[in-house]
Amino acid sequence: MYKTEKIVYLEALVSRLQADDEEFTAYQEAYYRVQAGIAGELKMQRTLADYHFIDPYKIFYNFECINEKGFSHQIDALIITTRFLLVVEVKQISGTLFYKPSFHEFARQTDEGIIENFPNPFDQAYRHQLYISYLLSNWGIQLPVLYIVVNANIRTKLDSSLNGSPIIHLSGLPKFLEKLYKNNVETTVNLTDLERKLMAIACRLPISKNVERDRIRNGVLCKKCEFQHVMYYHHGLWICPQCGVKNKEAIFWALHHHRVLIGDRITNRELRKFVGIDCKAVASKLLKRLNFEQFGKGRGVYYLIPEDVLERSIE
Ligand SMILES: [Zn+2]
Repeated sequence: MYKTEKIVYLEALVSRLQADDEEFTAYQEAYYRVQAGIAGELKMQRTLADYHFIDPYKIFYNFECINEKGFSHQIDALIITTRFLLVVEVKQISGTLFYKPSFHEFARQTDEGIIENFPNPFDQAYRHQLYISYLLSNWGIQLPVLYIVVNANIRTKLDSSLNGSPIIHLSGLPKFLEKLYKNNVETTVNLTDLERKLMAIACRLPISKNVERDRIRNGVLCKKCEFQHVMYYHHGLWICPQCGVKNKEAIFWALHHHRVLIGDRITNRELRKFVGIDCKAVASKLLKRLNFEQFGKGRGVYYLIPEDVLERSIE
């Protein structure tokens, strides 16, 4: 499955934050929003995979970079052909979308009638367009740079106030590309060279992890109960007092959460606190069975939680 670092972080956070945390709802909403965004991007990837591009072409999905002024650009798709370069901003917003062009105000009305403003996708895409144009001119490359906002939710209604704005439903993307091919003449731009230049500035944007340790719940949590209940350890098994599920593997989800939210290093003492084992010897035995890489000496010993911790098994 296609998962960015951001969604892994938000998923872990939503599973581990205290239920009464001030920001719980905000993080939960962010999690749903990122999930919807990924669903939209996948739909677009399928549509573009089905499309027959005429010239040589290249598509960058999720193109991220930081500009000279230190601000980030996160572009859902960058379609490069020898006739044009297209910035695609994908939206997956439900309800009815409205636009007041003179105010640059973008809003949606939910099926329940609630109206709320959203970041204006035209201004977002325009900002990317300007930056890419600036880069191309710096590189001495002459290629028209355009942008389009693509709505990937077929149930979304686009209000007539959006007439004339660069937004289309995803199903219209092939037609839109045909039009670009027709309206732009072939250039001598070397795509391999352009691709290399773009790759050189692309980077993965770091996500801000600013949730303090004491806001993260301790315990091995029951996945079957959507991480609501703390399991207890008995004769090498984790047992959920709520649903009664018993297994050896629940510890891996806890350590995955630790790795994503707190850090990939864990000491015996930290493990005891985090998974709720009082006895040092029991924790040592557990660490031995986990077979993680061990660093340091004496009191400074710590273990490294591997990236693939969820695929590990325990005897
Ligand atoms: Zn349970």
